[in-house]
Amino acid sequence: MSSEVKEVTIVGAGLVGSLWSVFLAQRGHRVKLFEKRSDLRSGNADAGRSINLALSDRGWKALEMVGLDQKIRDISLPMKGRMMHDTDGKKTFQPYGREGQAIYSVSRAQLNIEMLNAAEEAGVEMTFDIKCHNVDSENSTTTFERENGERFDVKSDYIFGTDGAFSAVRNSFYRKDRFDYQQMYLSHGYKELEITPGEGGGFKIEPEYLHIWPRHEFMLIALPNNDGSFTCTLFFPFEGEPSFESIERTGVRKFFEETFPDATQLMPELEDVYEQNPTSSLVTVRCYPWVFDKRVCLIGDAAHAIVPFYGQGMNCGFEDCSILIEFLDKSGGDWDQALQDFQVERKKDADAISELALNNFIEMRDKVADPNFLLQKKVEARIQEIYPDQWVPLYSRVTFSDKPYSEALKIGKDQQELVDKIMSVRDIENIYLKEEFKDLLKFYLQG
Ligand SMILES: Cc1cc2nc3c(=O)[nH]c(=O)nc-3n(C[C@H](O)[C@H](O)[C@H](O)COP(=O)(O)OP(=O)(O)OC[C@H]3O[C@@H](n4cnc5c(N)ncnc54)[C@H](O)[C@@H]3O)c2cc1C
Repeated sequence: MSSEVKEVTIVGAGLVGSLWSVFLAQRGHRVKLFEKRSDLRSGNADAGRSINLALSDRGWKALEMVGLDQKIRDISLPMKGRMMHDTDGKKTFQPYGREGQAIYSVSRAQLNIEMLNAAEEAGVEMTFDIKCHNVDSENSTTTFERENGERFDVKSDYIFGTDGAFSAVRNSFYRKDRFDYQQMYLSHGYKELEITPGEGGGFKIEPEYLHIWPRHEFMLIALPNNDGSFTCTLFFPFEGEPSFESIERTGVRKFFEETFPDATQLMPELEDVYEQNPTSSLVTVRCYPWVFDKRVCLIGDAAHAIVPFYGQGMNCGFEDCSILIEFLDKSGGDWDQALQDFQVERKKDADAISELALNNFIEMRDKVADPNFLLQKKVEARIQEIYPDQWVPLYSRVTFSDKPYSEALKIGKDQQELVDKIMSVRDIENIYLKEEFKDLLKFYLQG
């Protein structure tokens, strides 16, 4: 089978679609990329608001493969751990990994812009303000709609749906026999807020951490931006007490001053930003298959939207690209087989990170403030100190590794079982630092 040049249509020029177009164009394929929004680079789009994301090893690997890593490093900020803030203003630090390991805060818009520039450079033909209406996989045709309602068809050898959690490409297959589909909303939503820059553009709080104000049923987080500001996200129930619904009534500032007093002082424009920014929902989407009639393939959020609590949605989508390109490169031009192998291999990992992300919501909002949980983390750190090569914590397996998510999930469950047993040992808070802990550990590991 020859590696001939293919005509490819990609629907959605967000994070995954723009990166995927670079991968294919760099291999000489003729790529057409379509996006329903305006070109971010034109200045008309919503690029002004700084919304940031945490980029970690899986994402970096894909960026390295297309030669974009250095450009992105230049615009990102390392965060070496979580800084928890309690209601009295007391702070507790928890490192993400070993010395030197960090996740990186990067502006979504800037990242997207760099990838669109790279796509253009690689020869991708880009069209904006055009919405995908439908895909006909049997005829390998995508129907698009212009803003004036006019429709036109594009025929290509392959079509990739990278149009996000509410994918129009995926919608075209709902009625297909044996198509599994599940969509689940959390009872919590989110709203983006801002800690403004300090005087002279400096940071008002430490930029080298991801800040968390965990409050059991809800939380506020903050990631740093290059201009000295922090993008904060309030994850909060839609209904109940307190909730988005209830604080509309009782007043935003009063609630913030009582609940996040130290953060509130840093948000002079709180009320305005709260009102301006939308309250958005959080959805998990699972579906299968991802490949239809050997011609159409879903990747990124279109295939597997997850909640953001492991900071992995984009990283997972970028890893889809690096894994799929490896299958295509190895296939000797047999794309049909490569797409099939990709979906079989990748689905279990998408399901695993989806489960991990849901679990991490509880850890972030609730457990990080719990003294027992903090002790457990110290015990785990001690186990890691004793067995540095064998004991890699779950967070590190997900964040600082490119081993499959499903492997991380499985090992994580085994490790948790062991830690639960160790934590039930009487006086563990004193024993774990002593020499005798090594014998105890040996006993449980052998058992
Ligand atoms: C609050 C929040 C915080 C997050 N934080 C992180 C994080 O820290 N780290 C991380 O890794 N991930 C994070 N994520 C997840 C991340 O945002 C997504 O996983 C990522 O954006 C998925 O990229 P995508 O390209 O698949 O989809 P999207 O980014 O949604 O892009 C889809 C694109 O398709 C376009 N489109 C949609 N419909 C059509 C159509 N009919 N025709 C043409 N174009 C269309 C859209 O306009 C968009 O440009 C977060 C998500 C949320 C909600």
